[in-house]
Order: sequence, then C-alpha cells, then structure tokens
Amino acid sequence: MLTAGLAAIVLVIAGETALWGATAQRNDSEASIAADSRLSDTSAPAQITIPAPIQTSAPLAVPVEPEQATPAGFNKSARSIDDPTSIWFVVDKTRPIPDAANYVPPDLVALRSDIPNPYGYPLRQEAADALASMADAATAEIGQQLVAQSGYRAYDIQEIVYNRYVAQLGVAGADRTSARPGYSEHQTGMAIDILATGSGCSLDGPCFGETTAGQWLAANAYRFGYLLSYPADKTAVTGYEYEPWHFRYIGVDLSTEMHNEGVTTLEEFFGLPAAPGYLG
Ligand SMILES: [Zn+2]
Repeated sequence: MLTAGLAAIVLVIAGETALWGATAQRNDSEASIAADSRLSDTSAPAQITIPAPIQTSAPLAVPVEPEQATPAGFNKSARSIDDPTSIWFVVDKTRPIPDAANYVPPDLVALRSDIPNPYGYPLRQEAADALASMADAATAEIGQQLVAQSGYRAYDIQEIVYNRYVAQLGVAGADRTSARPGYSEHQTGMAIDILATGSGCSLDGPCFGETTAGQWLAANAYRFGYLLSYPADKTAVTGYEYEPWHFRYIGVDLSTEMHNEGVTTLEEFFGLPAAPGYLG
C-alpha cells in the first residue's frame, strides 16, 4: 500500500513537472503531450491534494493502471528478424538476405564528414547517426579517432571481396572470414568495420581487440546500439572467427537488453539455430 501511495504522489509530481515544462517551452516531448492529455484544464492553477492517512486495517484493492505496472519482459517480437530492412534482421550462414542480388537498403547516407572513411562507404541513416555519436564518445572518453574501414557493401562488391578471399585462402578459409554474397551483414547497410587512427592494426586477427579503442568499443558499443557481431568465443554460433572490428547496428533497446542479459549473439538471443556453416 505504501508503494502504491508513493507511486500516486510521484505521478502527481511528474505531471506537475511536465506541465511546467510544457508551459515554459511548449516542447513536443511525449511527457508534455501526456501531461496535456491527462490534465483537463491546464489554465487553472493545479492543486495537489494529499490524502489523509487511511484508517482502515483491511487491505485495499488498488487498481493498477497498465502504464504503472511493472514493465513486462523485453518483447522479442517487437520487430522483425526476417525483414532485411528491420534493425533486428538476423543474417548469417543459414539466413541469407531474401532476394539478395536485388536488395539495396533504404536510406543509405554518407558518414559524417569528420569521421575518417577512406573508402567512402555509406551506412543507413540510423546506423550512421549512431556511429557519429559513438565516434564523439570515443574522442571524449579515450581520446581516440574511430575510422570507418567498411560500411554498406553492395551484393556485387561482396562477391568481389569474397572471391578475393577464396583466391587467397580457398573456400574453407574464405568462409571463416568473409561472407558469401547475399549472406553479409554489410549488405544490410547496418554493419561497419571500425579501426582507430594509429591503432597499427588491420582487419585481420585479434590485434584491434587488444588496443584501447578496440577494448572501449567492445565494452561501450551497446550504448550506441551497436553489437560486436563475431566475438572470440562464439565462432561455433556465428560461423566466423573473432572480428574485433566488425560492429552491427541493432538499436539501443536491443543492444542494451543483450548487454544486461549477457547474451552476445543474435542467434542465441532470438533462440535461432547456430550457423557454423552454409546449408547448401
Ligand atoms: Zn565486417
């Protein structure tokens, strides 16, 4: 009962705060809108009524409104994992991009111009915005300049990349480090390979994961909606060797939930089969 009483008082105070904010700024925040719709007469002075202590000894039945209820568990069905335009889309060696040869993601944009991007790769808008925030944070928190080594790769570019690896390493070797065309996170426009200025590393081996920037990214990318797609201990799940440079944008809600649960692959989080190799 005490908790319910406190919740009611907090709600009143929160409403007052939002009302004052709305009066002062007329901003468009959801809180202000909610306050406006809750309060029937915003021109009258608001009154706070503090109820007298309840005298009854019987338990009170306090109705719980849905918005006050304890938040339910994370809704894993809130977005599609099958639609390649969804930020939760899962692509791996068993889950190719549908009609991949013809798929081009929407809203590709250039990266913010102060982020080094030597090959000029774009990303989808939301992923590019999040990258810019992450790059700013890396500069502010560890004094490092993130560098975009890759971003969106079209189907035919992926074909060239993959075939180059096949020529060097053979099919088995190429499959451990590069996606076949149609199976790459890079074709979604939501994956990026990141190094840092002066890291001394390339997109190969564990080098970057041992640097200040690599370690910062591994620990902090989730704050910006990014996930390290191919962790060192999940090769059997992802089908790829450790790639400390490869990050996938999945949105802050999902990246935070995975971080909080300690789950590091999309396959495990969504209960999908491991994807150590191609089916065909
Ligand atoms: Zn990559």
